[in-house]
Amino acid sequence: MKVDLKSLVKKYDTPLYIYDFNAISDRYKELKKAFEGKKSLISYAVKANSNLAVIRTLAKNGAGADCVSIGEVNRALKAGIKPYKIIFSGVGKRDEEIREALEKGILLLNLESEAEMKRVELVANELKVKARISIRVNPNIDPKTHPYISTGLHENKFGVDINMAKRMYIYAHKSEHLNPIGIHFHIGSQITELEPIREASIIVSDLVRSLKAINIDIKFFDIGGGIGVVYDDEITINPKDYSDMIIETIKGLDVTIICEPGRYMLANAGIFVTKVLYEKMNESRRFVIVDGAMNDLIRPSLYNAYHKIEAFVDGSDDVTKADVVGPICESGDFFGKDIELPKLKHNDLIIIHSAGAYGFTMASNYNTRGRSAEVAILDGKDYIIRQRESFEDQIRLEEACDTSWQNRED
Ligand SMILES: *Cc1c(COP(=O)(O)O)cnc(C)c1O
Repeated sequence: MKVDLKSLVKKYDTPLYIYDFNAISDRYKELKKAFEGKKSLISYAVKANSNLAVIRTLAKNGAGADCVSIGEVNRALKAGIKPYKIIFSGVGKRDEEIREALEKGILLLNLESEAEMKRVELVANELKVKARISIRVNPNIDPKTHPYISTGLHENKFGVDINMAKRMYIYAHKSEHLNPIGIHFHIGSQITELEPIREASIIVSDLVRSLKAINIDIKFFDIGGGIGVVYDDEITINPKDYSDMIIETIKGLDVTIICEPGRYMLANAGIFVTKVLYEKMNESRRFVIVDGAMNDLIRPSLYNAYHKIEAFVDGSDDVTKADVVGPICESGDFFGKDIELPKLKHNDLIIIHSAGAYGFTMASNYNTRGRSAEVAILDGKDYIIRQRESFEDQIRLEEACDTSWQNRED
């Protein structure tokens, strides 16, 4: 992404998220092309970055959406994704969410337990509709990723085991209000090897074959997301190898492949830019204190995730190690430790790379810090896609409450 960082910062200030919208479209096209010749739907996992402008760009390219709350479903719809391309996943859904999703006619409700299936059946009955469902199978496979983003082991809360899945399909097949047409697995995030996904796909496609033998016809084979990206020097999954592998495992099945990438589409299309406030040394360490913090980008604090950090200053060879930390009152508030950096001064810029996915969407107002602005770069031009959050924005819902009771004299 070629940008004039100084002028962008002058215009929008820091901390700031900047996304390369050309790169987002390119990623989508690359993956879609890998599945060329097969029926496929690339359903973008909205939780990776749910800015409406991001979803709109993917919608224009033809993407669907994988959502984990009715809020995300509504974002997808608002951004122009057609209901028949929207999937609603997640281990827990409120009745109201189920109802709204059914009313809006989305493609699939993805179920993760028998209890959830019964709730969906009840709500569908009330609405006099037949709910299109898929079932998330937990194939008990170790994706070899960070435990917090591993989801396909029996110790994780996600999905149901193969035997339970089969029982659920048989039940749903007989139900007047359930239409089981999809199957789903998603074994984790930031997966850099094909093998665990291949094993999962074999297990799940075998289940599809055994369901077919009892006249339960699965039309959508949803392989989840999880494609790993390069944060540092990882060697990760190549889209074409990925699609070839999937197509091989589902040989003989007439299904539409659904793929739900989040990180893959956004991570390396975004950077987070923060300003140096000052440096501080103690007896053992050098700290670079910046104006961004864990409330803006929590991945280093939450997962000990690595993000490449670069000082945007004119070449200085005189580098020493430093911890890059934010102003929040937590020792976990850091972006990187022992990072080689030149001597920095007030207002120098620091770039945190690969921040496009699970960056802004995990931001909070902790320490009453307004969330950052977000900017899109398209064909070399910059566009604001989310304004910086003000103090007034933050207190609006408190101010909207009756406060007279707080002023009592007694
Ligand atoms: C989070 C999630 C995804 C996206 O995962 P990535 O690693 O970002 O590709 C896809 N599907 C489901 C069900 C998810 O929960």
